[in-house]
Amino acid sequence: MTVQQEISRSRSDELFEQAKKCFPGGVNSPVRAFKSVEGVPLFIKKGEGCHIWDEDDNQFIDFCCSWGPLILGHNHQAIRESIIEAVSLGTTFGAPTRLENELAELIRKHNPHVEKLRFVSSGTEAVMSAIRLARGFTGRDKILKFEGCYHGHADSLLVKAGSGLVTFGETTSAGVPEAFARETIVAPLNNMEAVKQAFKDHPDEIAAVIIEGIPANNGLLIQEAGYMQELRECCTQHNALLILDEVITGFRLGMDGAAGYYDIRPDLVTYGKVIGGGMPVGCYGGSAEVMGKISPDGPVYQAGTLSGNPVAMAAGIAQLKVLQGNNFYKNLNSKAEEFAASIERFADARNYPLKIQSVGSLFWFAFAAPSPIRAAAEIDPASMGFFKIFHRELLNRGVYLGPSGYEVGFVSAAHSKVELEKAKRAIFEALEITFKK
Ligand code: PMP
Repeated sequence: MTVQQEISRSRSDELFEQAKKCFPGGVNSPVRAFKSVEGVPLFIKKGEGCHIWDEDDNQFIDFCCSWGPLILGHNHQAIRESIIEAVSLGTTFGAPTRLENELAELIRKHNPHVEKLRFVSSGTEAVMSAIRLARGFTGRDKILKFEGCYHGHADSLLVKAGSGLVTFGETTSAGVPEAFARETIVAPLNNMEAVKQAFKDHPDEIAAVIIEGIPANNGLLIQEAGYMQELRECCTQHNALLILDEVITGFRLGMDGAAGYYDIRPDLVTYGKVIGGGMPVGCYGGSAEVMGKISPDGPVYQAGTLSGNPVAMAAGIAQLKVLQGNNFYKNLNSKAEEFAASIERFADARNYPLKIQSVGSLFWFAFAAPSPIRAAAEIDPASMGFFKIFHRELLNRGVYLGPSGYEVGFVSAAHSKVELEKAKRAIFEALEITFKK
């Protein structure tokens, strides 16, 4: 094992001091603050393929990939060129463009449950709008969500959520009125009885059940197909809508996301991340009947000045066109699955208390876990101590993971086998230090 120098952080340190004067916690999104790991956030200067460079010129193999959108890696040529072409015609018109149709057709073609859709500018906006629509369509107010599932920061969904909330040990955000939180019922994942009980306790009151395609904001909590199918049936039985939040899984697991993976037909679906090719895009969609309630066709209002922005649409189109090519997901997923499996073999051979939970090109280091973990409550918060050491040791060896042990890693098409081998060697060394007695 090589003894590793700490990476230099002097420029990032300086920038963070300046940022703290400008932004709460020095950041524009909480998890970026490196609060649950060591050191200050690294200020990133550029990305190319599977690599990023920080302002101190440290180079990393990046498994955060901007939290998922960059399935083709950083600065992909086709996406860059399509953005430049779109920008050269103007940045925004506040009027329809043909690019919106083109991206919508690419989404619809692979997802028959999406008959109509509406573009927005983030995953949060997509989910917030889908919830309003579900309430408007059913005439009911309550939403059932799952413990540990993160759906963005809309009021009614910031209850027992994952991502930044779990990182900072909060179950519900301050500023969410109790009256709103009361409309949100929270059930544990992987427990059909709890869902049935909620429907029993609140007859004809639940507008929608919302679940992440594969819960990936509080560890990677892979649900069984039977459970997801039962959830679908249960919603139908009680005239509630099933909202599948595919902000992470959409066009990540495959062109048909988690709906295809589990073979279920959600009533509403939300996308973000991958469909924007790295630009701010989200969307929600469903049957023509349900989407018909959206303004101007129907009474549920939702709008956006920059919605369907042409530059963002161009990036999304370029990305999805590459993804629908032959064997794209087969190649990506098999590369990523082999990567995860070989790390697990390494850990198993040494009896390390570590499992790698992975699906497709998503993976999660489950420290101190008897595999598989399927519900948030099964994660031991003390295991985050391991992650803190692991994260530091990985940075020192040129591997960048998102700065929280609850967040998943992403493999992109730009991660070559050679780079994955390099990353594995770094991971093995970092694990040896993490578990050194
Ligand atoms: N839903 C899910 C499943 C997510 O993972 C996220 C963000 N990670 C969101 C919604 C919110 O998306 P955004 O950060 O773009 O608002």
